[in-house]
Amino acid sequence: MSQSSDNPLLIYFGGTFNPIHLGHLRLAEDISKQLDTTALHFLPCHIPALKSPPGVSSEVRAHMVLETIADYPNFKLDDRELNRQTPSYTVDTLRELRNEFPNHAIGFVIGMDSLNQLHRWHRYQELLDYCHLIICERPGYTLAPVPEIQTIIDHGRVSDSKQLQQSLHGKLLFIQTRKSDVSSTQVRQQLAQAETSQDLHPKTLTMIQQMGLYR
Ligand code: ATP
Repeated sequence: MSQSSDNPLLIYFGGTFNPIHLGHLRLAEDISKQLDTTALHFLPCHIPALKSPPGVSSEVRAHMVLETIADYPNFKLDDRELNRQTPSYTVDTLRELRNEFPNHAIGFVIGMDSLNQLHRWHRYQELLDYCHLIICERPGYTLAPVPEIQTIIDHGRVSDSKQLQQSLHGKLLFIQTRKSDVSSTQVRQQLAQAETSQDLHPKTLTMIQQMGLYR
């Protein structure tokens, strides 16, 4: 059993962010309001392990995140995965963060679609050795994990966010956030057809239009 911590909870939000959209931003806003945290770190992946190559470089995806979150004082960019030339395995990143912050509880944010696919993640059994999982609802997805993941959920699920401070890792919190039926895939399709999208922050849209991305 890991010890409790008086240090602020560190929250990491991993993704391809190809591009960052309003669904991501609403999740991040709602989570940072509900949980006692001083910073929420966006963690763009370099080479996604489970998706086809993004087509837009990791530097540009990270730059879009950085520009978009500039007006949110609690949001930060963590670009550590960009410095690796190998696929971005979340488990490696979380182990690194655990070593860097041995006395902080760490929460890693995922949507329901990701939870349902968690058994496909590299060394998924180790994830909770390093962090808590914060799981958000996503329109179109209900909780439907494989039995191994259901067992992990049954073992570690907590209902009160305060419980994330009572241990440094190992818990799963299902959190209610605004539901946004938006995905990067839909946004890329909208941009390819109309060169605009309602599901982007204005700064993201401006960058995309200026750089001529996703045409
Ligand atoms: P794509 O359509 O390219 O697969 P995506 O919209 O799922 O991309 P990602 O950057 O891959 O975006 O997502 C990062 C994380 O954010 C994942 O854990 C995903 O489940 C979650 N997420 C993304 N969009 C939403 C949303 N609208 N509601 C809830 N969770 C979301």
